[in-house]
Parts: sequence; C-alpha cells; structure tokens
Amino acid sequence: MNSMHFIEQSPETKPFWDAAAIGRFVLPWCRDCHRTHWYPRGSCPHCSSTKIDWRDSEGKGEIHAFSVNRRGRAPYVLAYVALNEGPIILSNVIDADPTALSIGRKVKAVFKPAPGQPPVPLFEVR
Ligand SMILES: [Zn+2]
Repeated sequence: MNSMHFIEQSPETKPFWDAAAIGRFVLPWCRDCHRTHWYPRGSCPHCSSTKIDWRDSEGKGEIHAFSVNRRGRAPYVLAYVALNEGPIILSNVIDADPTALSIGRKVKAVFKPAPGQPPVPLFEVR
C-alpha cells in the first residue's frame, strides 16, 4: 500500500521517477519564484512557471499528521511529512511501532522497491 500512485508518469515528472529508480529523492524547484513544491508536476503551483529544476533532497523532515490503518495483515501508517525544504508530502511511515509515533517525530525518506510498484519515497523514524 502506498500513497503516491497519484503522481502521474509523464514527461514532466520523468526526472522524479528516473531519480527514484536509483534511490535518489529529488524535489521540483521553480527557477522563476525560487520555491520548492510538491507534488511533481509540469508547472509551478505558486506562479505557474514551467521552468522546473530538480534538486536533491536529503529527505529529512518531521511528522506533520498521521493516521494508523489497522485493517489488513499489519497496521500501516499514513502520514503527512513536512520536509525540511518546506513541502508537506503524503506518504507512509514504515518499520515503526505505530503507538510510538507522534507529531513532530523526525523522519527520513527511504526507497524500498517492491515488485510491481514504482519506487516511491517512504519514511522511517530517525
Ligand atoms: Zn514558481
């Protein structure tokens, strides 16, 4: 289960997927307004510019909000993670005891490729 299938695979988002395929987490950065945004798309949500660069992210941030889904075989954690660069992204926190999580916990992006799924950044507690 992951929450990033909504990032379309298109020429505009190809740099994101190409980087993810080799375990790099990159964020779109606008050359006109000099801001980072999420999610990857063809134009800047702040100023509509299409001049998008891609910048490496350390993938560090903290839990902004989260919920634990206990249906299914094992509980999984859906979380909004506030990245140090600013954007808030919806993803999953993995390998964590859900009862030990809290708002503000520091997390870091990891890629855990799974068969048949696109490589997406997930988060681990750090
Ligand atoms: Zn912009």
